[in-house]
Amino acid sequence: MVERIEALVIGAGQAGVAMSEHLSRNAVAHLVLERKRIAERWRTSRWDSLVANGPAWHDRFPGMDFAGAAPDAFVPKEKVADYFEAYAKMIAAPVRCGVEVRQVRRNVPGRPGFLAETSEGMIEARYVVVATGAFQCPVFPPLVPETDAVKQIHSDAYRNPGQLPAGAVLVVGSGSSGVQIADELMRAGRRVYLSVGAHDRPPRRYRGRDFVWWLGVLNKWDAEAPPTTEHVTIAVSGAHGGHTIDFRRLAERGVTLLGRTEAFHDGELKFSSDLAENIAKGDKNYLAVLDEADAYIARNGLELPEDAQAREIPRDPECVTHPILQLNLQKAGISSIIWATGFAADYSWLKLDAFNEAGAPKHQRGVAAEPGLYFLGLPWQSRRGSSFIWGVWHDAKFLADHIAKQRGYLAYRGSAQPADAA
Ligand SMILES: Cc1cc2nc3c(=O)[nH]c(=O)nc-3n(C[C@H](O)[C@H](O)[C@H](O)COP(=O)(O)OP(=O)(O)OC[C@H]3O[C@@H](n4cnc5c(N)ncnc54)[C@H](O)[C@@H]3O)c2cc1C
Repeated sequence: MVERIEALVIGAGQAGVAMSEHLSRNAVAHLVLERKRIAERWRTSRWDSLVANGPAWHDRFPGMDFAGAAPDAFVPKEKVADYFEAYAKMIAAPVRCGVEVRQVRRNVPGRPGFLAETSEGMIEARYVVVATGAFQCPVFPPLVPETDAVKQIHSDAYRNPGQLPAGAVLVVGSGSSGVQIADELMRAGRRVYLSVGAHDRPPRRYRGRDFVWWLGVLNKWDAEAPPTTEHVTIAVSGAHGGHTIDFRRLAERGVTLLGRTEAFHDGELKFSSDLAENIAKGDKNYLAVLDEADAYIARNGLELPEDAQAREIPRDPECVTHPILQLNLQKAGISSIIWATGFAADYSWLKLDAFNEAGAPKHQRGVAAEPGLYFLGLPWQSRRGSSFIWGVWHDAKFLADHIAKQRGYLAYRGSAQPADAA
């Protein structure tokens, strides 16, 4: 028995839910398959205290507010998951939970569409939307051998300080996950080392507006390509009501900053001498946002309060002026390493000619090179906002409209054979 549906959406995170909304608006019959529960990753794949990085008024879909949250609040992850579950209900999304898609391949040669092998049977679909998430497989360099002396986990597996053995912790990575976890461990009384790579660190708030607002009005969410080819993470936090990430202030409160983690030999970790440079580049990015914000205010005659304090950059702490370049884990009492070093996606189950040599999807704004196949939720899929809550909704609209347009083309039968005669 093969079930047939026009469009099959795989994954019911925010991307799958958004896709369902737009497919329904275009009257495209579809089914969303989710191997666990709606917004499962928000529920179970993140640390206990995580809150959304953006305020409730922004990190949401246009069609629904966060129930019971003040607009400027940073919503806890459980509530984010509840939100998407409620949203799916509101739009009557046809989500089937507990069904895993194990393989997708092209349908019978010479016929359009795809065949999906699922944990509950085969499904044939004319269109397939892969909305399985970009942050799937934890990635960290195999630098430090596994030993009983040091527990190594990826940020994906971090839940709370209590899960780590007693002792100091090395956190590797200066994106939002790394800094938030380092901050939490430091507040819990741990001795913390934080390895800091290239990063941007926009101001949390400036002149009465959150950075999500500034990135919006300055048109940065809609930037279509990263400003540099170098990989630069973004360090922001909504924790404790939201605050600007400032590595020097973390150091003032006891965190030892280190450069990029480079190598391990004989019990010693080696760090690059790039710490001061990384911090300086982060400052440059921070100050550039303030400058652009000031210029925007002046140009548009906005009456927003001055914030001279925002330009005060503290002096470099000792760990930046005299960086530690190598550290003996045992002597430093480090019993845990948390690798906040990012994620990769696993598309091995897609048996389709849709990937480049590096295994990344070949696509244009999510429209794959393989006709009828779509990707949704990829970082920079169409713009900076693509992998974030509000951005994916707009990409989903583009993809659903694309499917509707393709349907229109395919319905055309030529002047000799009117469409209604087909
Ligand atoms: C730590 C962290 C914090 C973040 N915080 C924010 C934030 O505050 N604001 C923001 O806008 N963005 C944030 N993001 C980015 C992004 O919004 C989230 O990663 C979000 O979960 C991505 O949604 P998604 O629907 O694309 O993918 P996912 O949430 O990963 O959803 C994919 C779904 O597909 C299912 N699935 C996967 N494979 C299969 C299969 N073969 N068959 C069936 N189902 C399958 C999974 O179970 C999952 O439910 C954060 C990301 C991380 C890692």
